[in-house]
Amino acid sequence: MSQDYYAILGVAKSATEDEIKKAYRKLARKYHPDVNPGDKSAEDKFKEISEAYGVLSDAEKRKQYDSLGHDAFKNGGHGYDFSGANFEDIRNHFGGFDMNDIFGNMFGGGFGGGGRRRSDTPVQGEDINLTVQVPFKDAVFGNEYEISVNHTEKCASCNGKGGDKVTCPTCNGSGQSMNQRGGMFSVSACPTCKGHGQISKNVCSVCKGSGYKNVQEKIKVRIPKGVDKNSKIRVAGKGNAGRNGGPQGDLYIITNVQDHDVFERKGDNIYVNVEVDMFEAALGTKINLPTPYGTISMNIPAGTQPGQTFRVKNKGVPSLKGSAAGDLYVVIKVRVPQVAVEKDREALSDMQHRYSDDARQRLIDKARL
Ligand SMILES: [Zn+2]
Ligand SMILES: [Zn+2]
Repeated sequence: MSQDYYAILGVAKSATEDEIKKAYRKLARKYHPDVNPGDKSAEDKFKEISEAYGVLSDAEKRKQYDSLGHDAFKNGGHGYDFSGANFEDIRNHFGGFDMNDIFGNMFGGGFGGGGRRRSDTPVQGEDINLTVQVPFKDAVFGNEYEISVNHTEKCASCNGKGGDKVTCPTCNGSGQSMNQRGGMFSVSACPTCKGHGQISKNVCSVCKGSGYKNVQEKIKVRIPKGVDKNSKIRVAGKGNAGRNGGPQGDLYIITNVQDHDVFERKGDNIYVNVEVDMFEAALGTKINLPTPYGTISMNIPAGTQPGQTFRVKNKGVPSLKGSAAGDLYVVIKVRVPQVAVEKDREALSDMQHRYSDDARQRLIDKARL
């Protein structure tokens, strides 16, 4: 690890203690091994950020690092070598730094009172997010979907255990090994059990020890009326398999409601543009108005202006929260005819004198600075 500690945490050299702590928390949540089971690159990244944090969060060490750089920590006085160290080592090394504080109880049992985190703690499986395209109509009325989901399930052959776990004979279950290098000692993960303190025996031949199998399952999901873009529907127990007997994760259906040619949705309200001609706008008329629930009749009053909006109550989208439905907003567009007949031009010109207005002059007066 030769990267700049500041760069690893994504903070400036001038970052405050608080900024460093915040940056670390954010990254630690993302790369923690429990969030990324079996992901070696996440594990490496986690070690890297923990190492960087270990130094930068300690005022004394940070000062040394700032003046001497990396070498101060590789060959020099502190002599804690993180390469190959596992998470517990790092945690133990930074006494007083409370992992429960960072992770809360998001992993179930938390990190206990200073002891090793047992590698056989039941952990709930990961959740799966699946985006589903929902036609506009189904978002208004709801519908049932058959969805195909790829997830893991507990291996039935070994009941998810993957094999038997026995105490690691190399480290006697501590998960750690002491190394001596250049006259200094360092602690790293036991190479036999990779820090778990246990090794597998009688590995399950069906799942090769993983404890789970990949399945593709068809699931019926009810999309409730009122879903919008990014609505989340939880389907319990359809995520990935838990570990060590932990429960199955959940599946989250995320809806992406498709646009409609006529209706535009804003929250629970729907907007529809309706065109009337100049004469209808001036004289008033009765129109047939499309709504998601069928065509209704609507009065357009005389003297309606372009852009004027009328509200039709409860003809919007049903509310997901169970309260009243949204409304339908009718936005009036006025079509002005191309007058080709000379007689009509004269008639309009005649009328023009009676309806002229000095609005533009008022605008100019108002605009004067
Ligand atoms: Zn071991
Ligand atoms: Zn198995």
